[in-house]
Amino acid sequence: MSYLDSKVPPIRELRHPETALAHGESRCGQGPKKSFCPIQAQADRSFTQGSICPLLPALGIMASLPDTVVLLHGAVGCGSCAMGNNVNVRAGNAMRGNPGKDALWLSTALNEDNVIFGGGEKLAAAIVEADQVYRPKVILAVSGCLPGVIGDDVDNVAAETQAKVKARILPVHCEGFKSRFMATAYDVVYHAVGRGLLPAEAPGPKDPTAINVMNVGSMGLTDEKELARLLGEMGLKANFFPVFASPDGFAKATQARASISVCPTHDDYFLKHLEEKYDVPSIVRHMPIGIKNTGLWLMDLGEKLGLKKEAKALVEKEEAELNAALEPIKPYFAGKTAFVSAGEYRSLATGLLLRELGFKLLGIRSFHFDGFAEVELAKLDRDGDFVFNVANVQPFEEANLLKRLKPDVFLGHWHGNSTAARLGIPAQVIYNSGYAYIGYQGAYDLARRLRRRLSNPAFYQRVGRFAKLPYRPQWYAADPFSQIRAAEGEAQDLTEIPKEAAI
Ligand code: SF4
Repeated sequence: MSYLDSKVPPIRELRHPETALAHGESRCGQGPKKSFCPIQAQADRSFTQGSICPLLPALGIMASLPDTVVLLHGAVGCGSCAMGNNVNVRAGNAMRGNPGKDALWLSTALNEDNVIFGGGEKLAAAIVEADQVYRPKVILAVSGCLPGVIGDDVDNVAAETQAKVKARILPVHCEGFKSRFMATAYDVVYHAVGRGLLPAEAPGPKDPTAINVMNVGSMGLTDEKELARLLGEMGLKANFFPVFASPDGFAKATQARASISVCPTHDDYFLKHLEEKYDVPSIVRHMPIGIKNTGLWLMDLGEKLGLKKEAKALVEKEEAELNAALEPIKPYFAGKTAFVSAGEYRSLATGLLLRELGFKLLGIRSFHFDGFAEVELAKLDRDGDFVFNVANVQPFEEANLLKRLKPDVFLGHWHGNSTAARLGIPAQVIYNSGYAYIGYQGAYDLARRLRRRLSNPAFYQRVGRFAKLPYRPQWYAADPFSQIRAAEGEAQDLTEIPKEAAI
């Protein structure tokens, strides 16, 4: 039985129990130690400063879908991060020739009465109103924490209301309290798409040139064009899912020759379903960020499709061109240090790219860590000199680390660069869908931007002089990982779990 046969998807903790949220190698505490602590799924913090609700990344995908209304069934503030995400939706639409198109995000704004008497009727009325006002193809009825707690049956409301509206109603189960891992978001959205937008069987024969390339909300059209260009060189055509994919177009995913993930954390749930139900083989391994990783990504695809020779020739040609283009830039990075903070795959792949560019890597913070990332961490040589920290945000830990390590540049999320900036450290955004970041072009573009960032750090130095962080000197004197509690009893180091078992 497939997960998609159930109305509600499993949370990530159940599907990947080996996932960790708290880890820090204390070698940067009271002097360097060369031994690394095990990464344990059961480790936790005695103090936590925040977390990431799965709605944040889920809305990043859902809000991008054209002809779709995202109807949040929950408290009025629930999912309000969609306001911040809208910049990506607007920019993504503008780049795709739909200027000025915002995300359609509505809320049932449940109140105290609804908590006592139930919010089902309000949801049904909101679905009908959204259908009449916006005439979308799809309405995503997203369940937040409140309906999950009071027991509103979103699936039942959707089924009963379906006959009254033209749009297809897809229930989405994204109750934030159920999972501590934001990666649950991807499974939740794919669950709704897989149940509601895929046909019972493929509508036609396989297209031998079509490859499903699974994009992510933080990559833009420039990155998609780069991957399409590389696939085109191998005689292949890229179909991008799920971000900005038309609801009617998802059926095409069932006719592709193969699927390849851009971020393995993101896609295994959906790609396994395409494999099992529609016989579309998939690759869920490397992230095409940086020189080595882009090569591995292409070689994997070549191997899967019997195009190994073509992939090898392409990688050699692209690497030669890129290395020549990087030649004049790389001397600027000699002796420079860097720190990166991002989702698990992106942080580790970017760490490798920074080393390829000639930076000394001081630290990596990953929002979580699971079996997918073990292969990525291994590429980085853990006996090297960088600190590895797993943290679902936790800016207090980040501030302490950065103050000790003093990198020349910090790379991070556009929501998360302020800690570094307030310490006077130049910050480079790596989640800007307007920039190139992926593939060979992305490696060159990031190098160019880093060179510019480092050549004039005056803005960040000024910010550091005038904007202060709220922590006391005692905290900066403490071990940055002193709030992390190791697992009790016997706990396995996640890096020792064979990858096949973890996946
Ligand atoms: S789903 Fe829950 S945790 Fe997420 S924003 Fe809504 S109330 Fe908060």
